[in-house]
Amino acid sequence: MKDFDYIIIGGGCAGLSLAYELNLYKKFENKTLAIIEPREEYKRDKTWSFWKVIDHNFDDCVKKSWNNFTINSKVETQHLQSNDYPYQSIDSGLFYSKIINELKKNKNIIFLKDIREIDINNSFIFNSVPLPVKNNDNNLWQHFCGIEIETKKNTFDDSIINLMDFDCEQRDSVHFFYTLPYSPNKALVETTWLSKMSDEEKDYDNQLKNYIENNLKIKDYNIVYKEVGAIPLFYPPSYYKRNKIDIGTAGGMTRLSTGYTFLNIQEQSKYIRENIENIFDLKRYEINKKYQFLDKIFLNVLKKNPKRMSNIFFKMFKTSPNTVIKFLSNKSNFLEDLTIISKMPKWIFLKELF
Ligand SMILES: Cc1cc2nc3c(=O)[nH]c(=O)nc-3n(C[C@H](O)[C@H](O)[C@H](O)COP(=O)(O)OP(=O)(O)OC[C@H]3O[C@@H](n4cnc5c(N)ncnc54)[C@H](O)[C@@H]3O)c2cc1C
Repeated sequence: MKDFDYIIIGGGCAGLSLAYELNLYKKFENKTLAIIEPREEYKRDKTWSFWKVIDHNFDDCVKKSWNNFTINSKVETQHLQSNDYPYQSIDSGLFYSKIINELKKNKNIIFLKDIREIDINNSFIFNSVPLPVKNNDNNLWQHFCGIEIETKKNTFDDSIINLMDFDCEQRDSVHFFYTLPYSPNKALVETTWLSKMSDEEKDYDNQLKNYIENNLKIKDYNIVYKEVGAIPLFYPPSYYKRNKIDIGTAGGMTRLSTGYTFLNIQEQSKYIRENIENIFDLKRYEINKKYQFLDKIFLNVLKKNPKRMSNIFFKMFKTSPNTVIKFLSNKSNFLEDLTIISKMPKWIFLKELF
């Protein structure tokens, strides 16, 4: 059986980002890598969006970038602008083909479908496949369905995204719509829930149809792409092994209050690349403890007060756009944290704190 210096389990966002980063910095000139990925073919299956607060390797996979966004409820709309931190959307199809084309040029990198084909005992393992999660009524998820629609007439203002529209049924959960206009006649419209993910919330097609027809007032459109997903708003279980590091969602790279993961994956990849020579002694990369602590309180508030959350999100965005973006993207300083915290309703947050 063949063995490799490194094995990446799961050639998704984290596995491929890490392989790309290591390859870019020539870490496979004298080392070998096997990427274990069972999927038969790579095609567009996700749209990764985030505020660009750091540089990353995938600017050429950006579908579109915006400086303006709104959040709104039945009664109010807030308009925010940030020229410092554009909101970017990455097309996973472009991302996969860019990376795979590059990695295939290196004969020290091999793609395999099944880990049983190789000997793993002498390798260092980067694992991006989370252990199965037991059904737990306490776990929160961000679950969603997005469709890209195309209209005959020009319908959208493609200079502005709608980050959260709470003008919709809440059903005792937290529910909003998200609209990313790629062009005047194309947009991704997503129904998103922050909840324990009950089956009743999963009538996504109806929710999207109602919203597009009644809120966006669009009757004539074609669906050209669909994505469905559920991001765990809790850290997946993990076990320690000296020759293994969990990466991506499995490695705790999701910011629990927002579901944003993509840029954290890029930072984790960079950290591993910078320390690859001492990989056996490497301290685990994690999202700053300050955010872990604040997000835990935030999610407890959300669990107990779903009806108040639209109001809480509104208040949070009533600071300067750059402050809130930095906070949501793990880049805020102490003063900025205090500004955000001061916008929160004190009593319910204090109750969760104690
Ligand atoms: C639809 C969707 C949209 C998202 N949008 C955003 C966004 O806009 N912004 C953001 O920051 N985050 C977003 N996320 C969250 C996060 O960025 C993504 O989930 C991201 O893909 C996580 O990367 P990953 O490598 O951990 O997991 P994945 O990308 O899911 O990769 C895991 C890989 O493991 C493979 N695999 C599965 N089982 C095995 C096995 N037994 N052995 C080997 N391989 C296996 C899978 O085929 C897959 O390729 C989104 C998530 C989803 C699901």
